[in-house]
Amino acid sequence: MYTPPPGTHDALRLHLNENTAGCSPAALAAIRSISREDTAYYPDYAPVTRATARWLGVPEDWVLLTNGLDEGLHLVAQAGALGSHGHVLFPEPAFEMYAACAEASGLGVVRVQPGPDFAYPLEALLGAVSAETRVIYLTDPNNPTGLPIPRGAIEQLATAAPDALVLVDEAYADFSGRTAVGSLLDRRRNLVVGRTFAKSFGLAALRAGALVAHPDTLARARRIQPPFSLNICAVRALEAALDDRPYLEWYVAQSAESRALIYAFAGRHGLTHWPSEANFVLVRVGPDAPDLVRVMAERGILIRDRSGAPGCAGCVRITAGPVEHTRRCLDVLEECLATSAR
Ligand SMILES: *Cc1c(COP(=O)(O)O)cnc(C)c1O
Repeated sequence: MYTPPPGTHDALRLHLNENTAGCSPAALAAIRSISREDTAYYPDYAPVTRATARWLGVPEDWVLLTNGLDEGLHLVAQAGALGSHGHVLFPEPAFEMYAACAEASGLGVVRVQPGPDFAYPLEALLGAVSAETRVIYLTDPNNPTGLPIPRGAIEQLATAAPDALVLVDEAYADFSGRTAVGSLLDRRRNLVVGRTFAKSFGLAALRAGALVAHPDTLARARRIQPPFSLNICAVRALEAALDDRPYLEWYVAQSAESRALIYAFAGRHGLTHWPSEANFVLVRVGPDAPDLVRVMAERGILIRDRSGAPGCAGCVRITAGPVEHTRRCLDVLEECLATSAR
């Protein structure tokens, strides 16, 4: 698992796709208004679940709030494991948690490699589905590439593996504007959508995510989840953040502008990059990617070396958030590229 470089607390954090502008001020005000009794009593999740369901456009019993999406990923692996052996299947390059979830649930891991230039390996995925497949993790748009899952692929996989749970990780759906939440979830009852309020909403430190699926599909995950997974600060902050749509829209717009700046920068320097539907861009800087990331960190800018991930040789991932932060990053990157021996 990734450990950020030590002693860089004051650095500009463009390595974990956090909202570097912070959360909505309304979320912080909500936390400040928490009473002594609020902290003493086990939280009531009904109001925040209602607000989240309204925001997602689904009935309340289709939503299970989780302690960050990471908990949701674990719950799906545990719910899918059925106490029997089997495996978790996912396409590479993938979010690191999926393999950890498989291990925690006693499941094996089947990884499908990407095609050239991250061509989506749909045929290989379909070919890898078997009676042993318990869970399939899909990420739309993907991390670290920012690329979408091709149209129709989610439903094809859900149809091909009717006895597996298919988790569509939509951590970045607020940026892509695309979601599987809707009629597809009703049509394919083995589908579960995962959402997080960590990235776009800037609530990463509070831990708030959600699983969305037909109530029958969610039943098992609901049964095995600890009853009070979200703390009261996360609950109150999430309610307030969901109410502050203009703040979210501001950040999403900043991210789009930042991505355009990064594309233009990469284009000027002849660096391969991929059009991203999330708040980050994958850029191929070349074989000295690890050195570049280290030198950038020394200059107070954290970006993520992804050169070890399948298909990502020579690549770094740069969070694209507030334009001001992107400009600072690109100014330093410009200098680092100029002085490096390429
Ligand atoms: C950040 C991220 C998550 C985890 O979200 P949390 O709510 O912070 O646990 C899950 N999936 C992907 C693809 C992510 O990038």
